[in-house]
Amino acid sequence: MNVQRLSILGSTGSIGTSTLDVVARHPDRFRVFALTAHRQIDRLFDQCRAFLPEVVVVGDAEGAAELKQKLRAARLSTEVAYGPQALSAAASAAACDTVVAAIVGAAGLASSLAAARAGKKILLANKEALVVSGALFMRTVAEHGATLLPLDSEHNAIFQCLGTGSCTGAGVERLILTASGGPFLQRELDTLDAVTPDQACKHPNWVMGRKISVDSATMMNKGLEVIEARWLFDMPAERIEVLIHPQSVIHSMVAYADQSVLAQLGNPDMRTPIAHAMAHPDRIDSGVAPLDLTRMSNLSFYAPDLARFPCLRLGLQVLRDGCRASVTLNAANEIAVDAFLREQIRFTDIARVVERTLDQLPALAATAQLDDILAADERARATAHQIIAKLSAPRAVVATIH
Ligand code: NAD
Ligand code: MG
Repeated sequence: MNVQRLSILGSTGSIGTSTLDVVARHPDRFRVFALTAHRQIDRLFDQCRAFLPEVVVVGDAEGAAELKQKLRAARLSTEVAYGPQALSAAASAAACDTVVAAIVGAAGLASSLAAARAGKKILLANKEALVVSGALFMRTVAEHGATLLPLDSEHNAIFQCLGTGSCTGAGVERLILTASGGPFLQRELDTLDAVTPDQACKHPNWVMGRKISVDSATMMNKGLEVIEARWLFDMPAERIEVLIHPQSVIHSMVAYADQSVLAQLGNPDMRTPIAHAMAHPDRIDSGVAPLDLTRMSNLSFYAPDLARFPCLRLGLQVLRDGCRASVTLNAANEIAVDAFLREQIRFTDIARVVERTLDQLPALAATAQLDDILAADERARATAHQIIAKLSAPRAVVATIH
């Protein structure tokens, strides 16, 4: 068995640490070539001690200097680099076979594309990269003989239910993405204004990074995921469905022409899809507890309420309109979620910011290249910032003089 050498982009995050947990269980199969993180130098240093990567990449020169000092003091010879170019170099280095794309947001686009151009096996968690560059990303993967395997639990489930990993010619009728509905599925609608960042980040079933946790609470996460599914499985919009399933036991389903419906089940722990993709086509231990179906007396399913979840409505609208506004959808959402986490806007303002940004900007041409995508991303961020400034400005006080 050949040892797979991994570059783990975003190794200090929730997906990154779950990936390293699987790596640690299989030293005979996996070796770490590169680890990268934006700012968490202490955590990255601990990971360097445990996994002895050849290369480590951080966000800036200051972080790199601090990490270098720590590594030298510990007599570790890991090479330290910083910035976007070093990130792309780690993703495309000849010494790595597999790239785990686990950076959050469109910040992961360039390195994911670099991995595709270098023909790597890419384990994709970074859904935003695919959402913003769909056609271009899939074309790059095909042209350079890269392999793309989904880590996102729904897409990994669909990939497993498809068997061949492809929708074409397999009699596939529909993809059914399940969604837990997040922490506010039952909350009184008129109290959503008052939701705090900590409440929004407290997901009932999954422990995740803060951005995706907020996306799950607004259900923008599912809006991004239907677009992700469209590209990964080359599936038309009208054959992609969303189904609320609060228990998060069925991670998604595929309905076939003969009305067979295949589902993938498991405990809500990302180490299952991660281990699946890492070992594919083999199966390995993920460290996840066995699923005890006798303790699940009630698995429920129902259609999502788009009035409660306007972000999902916007994601579905962008999907149906051909995904040409997906750069704007994603960029406005990233800015709005960040503003909510900083307590600059209310929870319910997130959808407002995204909708107004979509209304103000034109959709991209279907032939958009990387430069067009990056320009549209920048424009959408600037527009979203302007909308937020207006929303969060103190209301004008009208004084009446008697
Ligand atoms: P996280 O916030 O826990 O970790 C993000 C990682 O990216 C960190 O290592 C951070 O240092 C790095 N990073 C952040 N900004 C960066 C930048 N500008 N440049 C370089 N590196 C940067 O996030 P997460 O929950 O692990 O999610 C990562 C990705 O996986 C997201 O796209 C998310 O949607 C997707 N995903 C996560 C889960 C989950 O369970 N956490 C499930 C499915 C999909
Ligand atoms: Mg998911």
